[in-house]
Amino acid sequence: KDVNYVREIFLHEVKSPKTVISDMKFLQQGIRRSGRRMKIIAKPANDIEVQIIEKDAFPRPPPSKSELKSRPPVVTVMGHVDHGKTTLLDALRHSSVVDQEFGGITQHIGAFLVVLDSGAKITFLDTPGHAAFSAMRARGANLTDIVVLVVAADDGVMEQTLESVRMAREAKVPILVAINKIDSPKADVERTEQMLLEAGIQIEKLGGEVQAIPVSALKKQNLNQLAEALVLQADLLEIGADPKGLVEAVVVESKLDPHRGKLCTVIVQRGTLKKGNILVAGVCMGRVRVLRNADGQIMNEVPPGYPTEIEGWKDLPSPGELVLEVESEKRAKDVIKVRESKLEMEKQEQDAVVIAEKQAHHEKEYRERLQLKRSLGRFKLRREGPRAPEIPKDDDPTPSLNIIVKSDVDGTLEAILNALDTYDSPECKMDLVHYGVGAVSENDIELAQTFKGIIYAFNTTCPKNIQELAENSGVNIKFHNVIYKLVDDVKEEINSRLPQKE
Ligand code: GDP
Repeated sequence: KDVNYVREIFLHEVKSPKTVISDMKFLQQGIRRSGRRMKIIAKPANDIEVQIIEKDAFPRPPPSKSELKSRPPVVTVMGHVDHGKTTLLDALRHSSVVDQEFGGITQHIGAFLVVLDSGAKITFLDTPGHAAFSAMRARGANLTDIVVLVVAADDGVMEQTLESVRMAREAKVPILVAINKIDSPKADVERTEQMLLEAGIQIEKLGGEVQAIPVSALKKQNLNQLAEALVLQADLLEIGADPKGLVEAVVVESKLDPHRGKLCTVIVQRGTLKKGNILVAGVCMGRVRVLRNADGQIMNEVPPGYPTEIEGWKDLPSPGELVLEVESEKRAKDVIKVRESKLEMEKQEQDAVVIAEKQAHHEKEYRERLQLKRSLGRFKLRREGPRAPEIPKDDDPTPSLNIIVKSDVDGTLEAILNALDTYDSPECKMDLVHYGVGAVSENDIELAQTFKGIIYAFNTTCPKNIQELAENSGVNIKFHNVIYKLVDDVKEEINSRLPQKE
């Protein structure tokens, strides 16, 4: 509401100092009611300006190299359907030392951390496949450091394998291949390697740089080797983050729990998340009540690269959204207000575009009608409406034209009918057999066949099977999207039926 008002004031031409003062009073009231922090500035030429004092919270500029500490890499598993992505993730999840020590019940929260014997850690996003990957990317979250491409050795490179490669490359994320199902009797690792090479993936064994690890997710073979390869890859990438300062994180999953309320899993990208932190994500805010890992254990501190499930949201943020820590609840509310106003403003702008488009459409229609009127100049208005249709007799010497009109909407249908209604000539009969809104139907074809008529489809379609039916029954369907052209067409049909004058 206040946004509307402020905009109005901006557009308002203030006439006299008196008006300025009364406007300012009015404005002050509006601002007070809105609870926003805004400043009113009287400007020369009796103009006034309203400044919004609140500012959005933005991610801070990137930290300097010296502040970076190494963090676990974030890994997404991709590949063709049934090649073993889910099985691999399950196997990796249970390989974690933490899991074995505490024996917690693992649950799906969107991401989990694996701790290797060496102490190295890897975070896996546990929604495999490219749908999740592209959903994240669409929101601008480049969360993934490494893609594990799962290729089943008994099937080789398939369509979705190639698609995954393309997506990883587009996102500039390095690939590591897991050649899976090596336990299968039908496994052919060498053939799979060859296929990978043909797909442009230069694997190490064949002189390239991409690591390809043969594994069996089902039999849990070589999983350590795969994990160590990931750690090596992460070292090469020199993955690091600043664990100090205000927290920045990305939402990977959110859900409503009947007992624990609104929950969302994030991966911390900067700073260290703790209980009590105040967060904003989009237009949602929260105060961290509890932090848990995928084993349901409470975490006191969540440094960069670690996933955690946050309890304590007032509203539920969406996956891909950036989570920012702010100093106070007041600040969080201000930031959300700023964002809501921005959204409202954008919506108004969109509405304005829609209105402009509608206006343009009306103008086009108006021009069309004008043209129609002109083209109808020689028709006399006949007010009794269409005649009852007659089935043309073969021996009837009077020429006649039977038509069926289908249109997209009522309004245009009426305009067409009005135009056709003005036709009145004894030389050729014209009858409207049937009309209606919607696509051309089987019924229309049957009618056209019975009455030997033509179907006029205005701004509407005709399904393929109906079109075929029309062809087989010798029914002519004419498509138009400009009214006067349709009318011209009708006139032409009439003219072609009149006896040729010498
Ligand atoms: P996704 O569609 O890529 O997630 O594939 P799944 O993990 O659901 O696996 C598809 C099928 O392949 C299941 O029947 C798995 O049991 C089987 N599978 C997965 N990994 C292996 C493996 O290493 N060896 C064998 N023999 N079968 C596997």
